[in-house]
Amino acid sequence: MKYWQYIVMIFVLFGCSRDPVPEDSYFITQNDYNNAVDELPEEIFLEDSLILIVLPDSTVSLDIDSVSALDSMIVLEDSLVVEIDSLIPPEPPAEWKFIEIEIQGSLYQSLAVVSDVEPDILGAHCVRNLVWEMNPWRGFIAGDSVRILYTTEELPRENMVVAFEYIPVAGSSNHSFSGYVFTKTGDNWPSVWQPDGSELVKLLDRSPVRTFEEITSVFGEPRGNHTHQGVDFKAPLETPVFSVTGGTVLRTNWNTRYNGYCVEIDFGGYSEVFLHLCSIDSAVSAGALIEPGQSVGTVGNTGISTAPHLHYQINGPDDYAIDPYLYFSSHRRVLGAEDMDRFQEQVALCQRMMGE
Ligand SMILES: [Zn+2]
Repeated sequence: MKYWQYIVMIFVLFGCSRDPVPEDSYFITQNDYNNAVDELPEEIFLEDSLILIVLPDSTVSLDIDSVSALDSMIVLEDSLVVEIDSLIPPEPPAEWKFIEIEIQGSLYQSLAVVSDVEPDILGAHCVRNLVWEMNPWRGFIAGDSVRILYTTEELPRENMVVAFEYIPVAGSSNHSFSGYVFTKTGDNWPSVWQPDGSELVKLLDRSPVRTFEEITSVFGEPRGNHTHQGVDFKAPLETPVFSVTGGTVLRTNWNTRYNGYCVEIDFGGYSEVFLHLCSIDSAVSAGALIEPGQSVGTVGNTGISTAPHLHYQINGPDDYAIDPYLYFSSHRRVLGAEDMDRFQEQVALCQRMMGE
């Protein structure tokens, strides 16, 4: 529920009702309610009940049901009583921490100035979020700021970032954007969503994995003396992997010390490459014809790999790698109505922690 949107009054029925008045009813003005629920007297947070009047043009979603302005009379006559707990915003977890950094040098250098933060880890996690709207390696300008709400808990997502906001310095051609971690109904893992409910992370329209936890590295990420040549999908061991393009298997299991179990499939001079697999399907051997969407094997942690993930790569006819996000089309999902209330609650919770 978006607290600030709702005009909620708690109606004290002394002298105004046919119904008996619960002794633990409270009257709060609209202003009180909008400003700070935490200013309410502590004792009414427990098992007290409220009687609500919903004013015109407003809707209140409660655990018990949705109540709209049209229901006002029902509220009055039927003495709709709800637990106040359902109106109190949840407290942010104690593990959440907030920092705001001003960029001087790189993101990592700027994080290193902040105490209590492991700059390499938090920096890498920030990059995974920022990369969808800016270049986090070369795109920062001194004076940009990044506001980060992060958690010290590893579950349900390894990525520490709970919410963030990027604010470019005045005069920059970058734009500000923000993201909030949220698990969409039906998804196995949280993703990152913008305040309007659109996903910050882009998904390939045709993906080599149908479920994954997180994209941990995109094409072009600097890695010492080279750049990352594919997209890394972190996913549980043995998650099925599919050929996107189909084609003819060129080779399997070359340079396994680095690549682990691997497959390359040729399609018209281009090829798709799958690395670090756990297993390869028996039908997948050099010369075999693979249909688009056909299973290739499963996600593994073989070769140079620190956690189960699929490295998916597209090579051009000149053998240079191509960003799969340029080669294939991609999209952003949008949260449906069934998720928006819960998402807005999460955004409001984060924004309170971020001092907004
Ligand atoms: Zn990779």
